[in-house]
Amino acid sequence: MPRNWFILTIGAFTLAASLGSNGRAEDDATLRSKYVRVEGVLNPLAVERECDAIVARLVERYGVPRRWKTLPVRFRRPNGGPVAGYTAYARPDVAEIVLYMTFEESRGGALDHELTHAFFFYYLDDYFDLFFNEGVAQNSETANRARLRGEVYRRFARGETTSLARLYGRNEYDPELLLYVQGFSVVDYLIGRGGSRWFAAFLDELTNGNVGLDDALRRFYDCESLDALEREWREYVRNGQDRLGTRAVK
Ligand SMILES: [Zn+2]
Repeated sequence: MPRNWFILTIGAFTLAASLGSNGRAEDDATLRSKYVRVEGVLNPLAVERECDAIVARLVERYGVPRRWKTLPVRFRRPNGGPVAGYTAYARPDVAEIVLYMTFEESRGGALDHELTHAFFFYYLDDYFDLFFNEGVAQNSETANRARLRGEVYRRFARGETTSLARLYGRNEYDPELLLYVQGFSVVDYLIGRGGSRWFAAFLDELTNGNVGLDDALRRFYDCESLDALEREWREYVRNGQDRLGTRAVK
């Protein structure tokens, strides 16, 4: 219900009274999402319902986050820059998600991606490695998965990939954005091997378990080191990214 409708009809007592609380949908806290407050769109309630559905899918895949604080999701006009959106943190919370596109453009893509960042921040109650962070967020872009797998193969075939040792543990983005491309593919591979919950438990162990990467890889994926994981991952890409053909651990 547009707010100015009430301003225009403020004198129509009987009509306003008959609308009751149902007439003020946007003011009714019970109709709002408990996860997000959407701003910058005409119908924030509809977008909040989509956000709720995305979070519900993430819970289904990975399990329940340790905690959650309702966060703003702000849609803004495209600004011509290279960044389609971002998630900002102000410890101990997620400060905001900003998307430079319409809701429709963000569905199955950037909206799911950024909500995954917020989800894992609360799931682990901490920051975690950028390589896995971008990888798991890319993995939520259901509308883009086939294109992403194509991009992985193209870069691989042209020899435009780099070693995982150069991508894991870095706190800044690489100019070729291989954090996204290889991050997506390695996460895709690990989820293929053990499922989504197993991967989330691996991230939890890595972030909160006080163990190093090699130990976590050994315990969760029977993999001796990051180099060993890289050899397996390269073979997986060379063989056509067949997730069913991975060396399943579960
Ligand atoms: Zn991201």
